[in-house]
Amino acid sequence: MNPSISKQHRFFTRTLMRWHMHSNNRVMPWKFEKDPYKIWLSEIILQQTRVAQGTAYYNRFIKKYPAIEKLAKAKEAEVFKLWEGLGYYSRCRNLMATATLIHEKYKNVFPSTYKEILSLKGVGPYTAAAIASFGFDLPYAVVDGNVMRVLSRFFGIFTPIDTTLGKKTFNELAQLLLDPKQPAQYNQAIMDFGATVCKPQSPLCNQCPLSQNCLAFKKKSVDILPKKSKKIIVKQRFFNYFLLEVGSFILIKPRTHKDIWKGLHEFLLSETSSQVSTKDAMKKLSEEIGLSDKKTIEVSKLYKQKLTHQEITARFIRVQLDAIPSELSSFFVQKKQLKKIAFPKIITEYLEEAIFINT
Ligand code: SF4
Repeated sequence: MNPSISKQHRFFTRTLMRWHMHSNNRVMPWKFEKDPYKIWLSEIILQQTRVAQGTAYYNRFIKKYPAIEKLAKAKEAEVFKLWEGLGYYSRCRNLMATATLIHEKYKNVFPSTYKEILSLKGVGPYTAAAIASFGFDLPYAVVDGNVMRVLSRFFGIFTPIDTTLGKKTFNELAQLLLDPKQPAQYNQAIMDFGATVCKPQSPLCNQCPLSQNCLAFKKKSVDILPKKSKKIIVKQRFFNYFLLEVGSFILIKPRTHKDIWKGLHEFLLSETSSQVSTKDAMKKLSEEIGLSDKKTIEVSKLYKQKLTHQEITARFIRVQLDAIPSELSSFFVQKKQLKKIAFPKIITEYLEEAIFINT
């Protein structure tokens, strides 16, 4: 037996596994799944997404692309449309890149070693451990925010989880606690325990089978664990979207530059460093693209979208033009096509409310 495993470690693993066997009622469509493609898909969808939201997307993806070959051969625009609303679109780009790689290099057989899985685009140590253990019963412990919260509370660890030392500490501890004979069951147990019992807010300490040995519970430090060293700074951005319309045609452009929402579409954007009036936004538009025959026909309310490090405030200004400018003609589409195109959430919200699109 590993000498660094103490009584406290053994109590943790045994009690957690007992809880998993007898009391874990969490239901998710990918639970007990052994197909690594489906496990990978669920894990990519669940990065930065709550289970309740991710479940519907997972079901839709599996229905449309039941095997990795189908996903590899799908059109990019179609996959983006299915992903629409989930956010963090780099995940979608990585999903497509990895599907293509597995189709071409691995002939549709998902790689089965931790090293190969970790080398896939969009797969970090957490996702690799999940796929390796759930799909191939390899002894790799998952470590995410849920797991670090449970461990920091139970073992009373105050090292911040977002530091190099914190990550090393929690990774080593998680690996030590893993039941090597049942890695998939153990990983499922700790993830479900963190999500349903040792929750971020209002953990169920009074019903918790670990409470008798939980250091945070004993020392009344549950509410202050886990520790973080940094506060996230949120940048404010102001987007003025111009809907350039000519009859039944409207201008939309793909976002191609290195920024949020790359690969999605949007209307003509003019970004300002603060909230400006419609008049000033129109003046900036004139300076930027110099259209003279334009008439403002509607200005929307303000829409907001919060991302991890940014908050976007957007306003939509409908502008009527007499004719399609030749230099922009390749960007005009029929308005009825908008429903088939993938947009960021803030634009989809606007379009859902926009009368001119929905009548
Ligand atoms: S007693 Fe409370 S803080 Fe400790 S492991 Fe259980 S739920 Fe988490």
